[in-house]
Amino acid sequence: MTVTDTAAREAGQDFIRDIVEADLAAGRHSTVITRFPPEPNGYLHIGHAKSICLNFGVAQEFGGRCNLRFDDTNPTKEEQEYIDAIERDVRWLGFDWGEHLYHASDYFEQLYAWAEHLIRAGKAYIDDQSQDEIRANRGTLTEPGKNSPYRDRTAEENLDLFHRMRAGEFANGARVLRAKIDMGSGNINLRDPVLYRILHATHPRTGTQWCIYPSYDYAHGQSDAIEGVTHSICTLEFEDHRPLYDWFLENLPVPSRPRQYEFARLNMSHTVLSKRVLTELVRGGHVSGWDDPRMPTLAGLRRRGVPPEAIRDFVKRIGVAKANSVVDAAMFDFSVREVLNRTAQRRMAVLRPLRIVIENYPEGQTEELDAVNHPDDASAGSRKIRFSREIYVERDDFMENAPKKFYRLTLGKEVRLRYAYFVTCREAVKNAAGEVVALRCTYDPATRGGNTPPDGRKVQATLHWVSAADSVPAEVRLYNPLFARPDPNAGDFAADLNSNSLEVLPDARLEPALAASNSLDSVQFERQGYFCRDVDSMPGRPVFNRTVGLRDTWAKASAGGKT
Ligand code: ATP
Ligand code: MG
Repeated sequence: MTVTDTAAREAGQDFIRDIVEADLAAGRHSTVITRFPPEPNGYLHIGHAKSICLNFGVAQEFGGRCNLRFDDTNPTKEEQEYIDAIERDVRWLGFDWGEHLYHASDYFEQLYAWAEHLIRAGKAYIDDQSQDEIRANRGTLTEPGKNSPYRDRTAEENLDLFHRMRAGEFANGARVLRAKIDMGSGNINLRDPVLYRILHATHPRTGTQWCIYPSYDYAHGQSDAIEGVTHSICTLEFEDHRPLYDWFLENLPVPSRPRQYEFARLNMSHTVLSKRVLTELVRGGHVSGWDDPRMPTLAGLRRRGVPPEAIRDFVKRIGVAKANSVVDAAMFDFSVREVLNRTAQRRMAVLRPLRIVIENYPEGQTEELDAVNHPDDASAGSRKIRFSREIYVERDDFMENAPKKFYRLTLGKEVRLRYAYFVTCREAVKNAAGEVVALRCTYDPATRGGNTPPDGRKVQATLHWVSAADSVPAEVRLYNPLFARPDPNAGDFAADLNSNSLEVLPDARLEPALAASNSLDSVQFERQGYFCRDVDSMPGRPVFNRTVGLRDTWAKASAGGKT
């Protein structure tokens, strides 16, 4: 199914789509134009995915278009690396902006001309107050602000100062251009907001052409108007900014009139979706980079093996609403399992190996057995796996003094080795410290393929295994939530980090088919979960990431207080 098909089925499911549908039906617009407007000051995360799927999804469903626009108004925080990463990640998620790649910086000249327009109309002025004075005089939620002593400058004086600001005559912070609206407004955003500030900085796109930059609030709505955006969809925190955006649109000769609609941002348990915090996680070395598989970034999720389809499925399930809420991270894992269960081929890998010697299997003999690649998809075919006298099984599939309900390996117990034979555990071999280092077992040749023998004997467990001689040593990385608390404190996030978010298993053993493939697609390690090859893999030394376990074992462990 293509992305368009998926999107089409979502039509009419939320209030935004209802609005768009009604606008088109009433002829208020002939086509819908949306945009996804990131600031290039960090990598995209799963929260952005919600906004991307919504903006591109609505455009696709209603036959319109969605622009990708960089709101690049703050050169001190923006980098080319982020611009490239954002484009890559939006494409990876399955969306295409075609020709419609824009930048707020494309409009710097127009925005400047409109600022002059406001000055001439007596609706903007140059303020010489310091940043601290402006903040102090802004008032609070309960007290009105105070007019600036510079508020009544003439248009001529304001224009002259504004031109000189642009010409680079003044130092950073010396003056700003402010809108002249109402210092007594109940909405703080309308108390003479700053439109332009002086910033002698190099911009990734305009270089040193400018030393004054528009504020985000001043640039955002006008950029939408320039692009003919019909529905400016954004998150709830911009609701209080809407009156300001509307003021700009009403007071400027803009070519079109966008309408803004707000929806609730995605919040997820055990996760922080704040670019500031994510930046600090990277800069502080708490993670290995923006694409660390524990990060909620799209780059991290991709490296972890999450397919883009799972992210789109998740976003569809959580829906779009106007009320803030926190989504359980388990819901995300559910979507990932849903997709991977369907698409991932099955393989065998032993994460914590315990050696087994099969006493009655002839030394030097090996044989090939058939293993199916996908239990529900015959077209995925099968592969050969080699059986021999020495194999590895999972260490915790053996227990010495096992309780009655332990159906796996213990002395005297018979189990099935998947696709191979029934084996019975005869002896645990121990080292000087008394630790079990190997098992001695016997096998029943009448159970070849793992089939029930002629006497109809049954076993209660089927174990995965790999042959000792031709299995490939690998490093496997298991990921747990980056934050131990479901509601990490974004202010002091370091205290809430999960010290057990990464477990490295250096001695795992893979069946050869896994090591031979360079594919980055996720596979299922039978009985363990979904895994994918990591970019840190070296020739002869693969590294695999656990994308997600087969079941939600983390929730159980944390309920038991084991975090
Ligand atoms: P910043 O604090 O840097 O502004 P931001 O997360 O708002 O961070 P933007 O680059 O401005 O980052 O975001 C681009 C778009 O993604 C915005 O329209 C924003 O509303 C939306 N967005 C950001 N975070 C989320 C989220 N958690 N859920 C849904 N949409 C989000
Ligand atoms: Mg933002």
